[in-house]
Amino acid sequence: MTTTPKSVAVPVATDDADALASDAQLLRIQRIGERLFNVAHCVVTFADASSGFHDGRQAVAHEFCRSLAEVEMLTVVQDASADPLLATHPMVSGEPRIRFHASSPIRDAGKAIVGAVHLVDYRARSFSEIDRRAMADLVGIAERELHVRSLNAIQLDLEKKNKTLRRKSLIDPLIGTWNRGAIMRILGIESVRCEKAGQPLSVIVVDLDFFKKINDTYGHPAGDAVLVKVTSRLRSSIRRQDSVGRYGGEEFLAVLPGASQQEAQAIAERMRAAVASEPELIGEALVNLTVSAGVASSDLFPAAGADELIGHADRALYAAKDAGRNCVKQARPDMQF
Ligand code: GH3
Ligand code: MG
Ligand code: MG
Repeated sequence: MTTTPKSVAVPVATDDADALASDAQLLRIQRIGERLFNVAHCVVTFADASSGFHDGRQAVAHEFCRSLAEVEMLTVVQDASADPLLATHPMVSGEPRIRFHASSPIRDAGKAIVGAVHLVDYRARSFSEIDRRAMADLVGIAERELHVRSLNAIQLDLEKKNKTLRRKSLIDPLIGTWNRGAIMRILGIESVRCEKAGQPLSVIVVDLDFFKKINDTYGHPAGDAVLVKVTSRLRSSIRRQDSVGRYGGEEFLAVLPGASQQEAQAIAERMRAAVASEPELIGEALVNLTVSAGVASSDLFPAAGADELIGHADRALYAAKDAGRNCVKQARPDMQF
């Protein structure tokens, strides 16, 4: 008696786009197997259950194949009802009365068995030498698909690692802001962008006052902690479109696209006030911290390139240090240094 199993809805194993594309490829292999051998089902199973794939129509055959022991080589049961091992299997003795089963292992590049290609039918049938060779070809295609999958997984992993490394190469490990290389690149990009858009560009160079004394008094690790805390105060003072990076040891560079000299002055003043507003707790001690800042804006130096703008901001910073620290100075074309 030939019985057709009822269609069972089986959810797709994963909604990951790559996995779906690969699963479409597996379904294709299974369809080719069904046509090639003229059997009711060709099922590809993987030892890693999540990567096996079947549509609802194949759910029963899939369940049958999964219930069988792994095979080391092509194994053919032409009539399961007469087979000493399979005759008592509930899906052979009862519905859906499976009669024919052939399976061949799928091996990975290291020759380990990772799955199998199964052929299932509801009538007993023979399996010729030509069928055997065709089965080996089909297994070869499934193995190739598996190989492509593992290469894709390796590539995805490498891309992820690459992204992490790239990010790490741009971030200062101590204070978590852009490092010098990254903030200089941002400055270069913003400089071109602002010029094209006809917008001003401003930079601020900020330096901690008497930082050496903090290191000398409280130790280098405490100095590191101060840098982290000051960074957080500086960051909270800038706008969304601004960037801040570590320019040197205890020196920061802020890039302010679109900011006029007045806006940049206000932001620098906000930074200064944020640091000076209240003392920082270092170990058991409350320490007053201050910064000095130099500001340079392209609206005062329209011909200056990005590097020259930093040079002007640097000179303004020296002026702020000269003026007693804890203050902001704006670079002006008529400024004497
Ligand atoms: P000024 O007000 O003139 O800027 O005085 P200053 O003491 O801040 O400047 P100076 O250039 O004399 O000293 C800077 C100190 O910053 C010296 C250096 O050891 C310290 N420093 C630089 N980078 C780090 C760091 O990553 N961690 C710590 N703890 N200290 C650092
Ligand atoms: Mg300093
Ligand atoms: Mg310094």
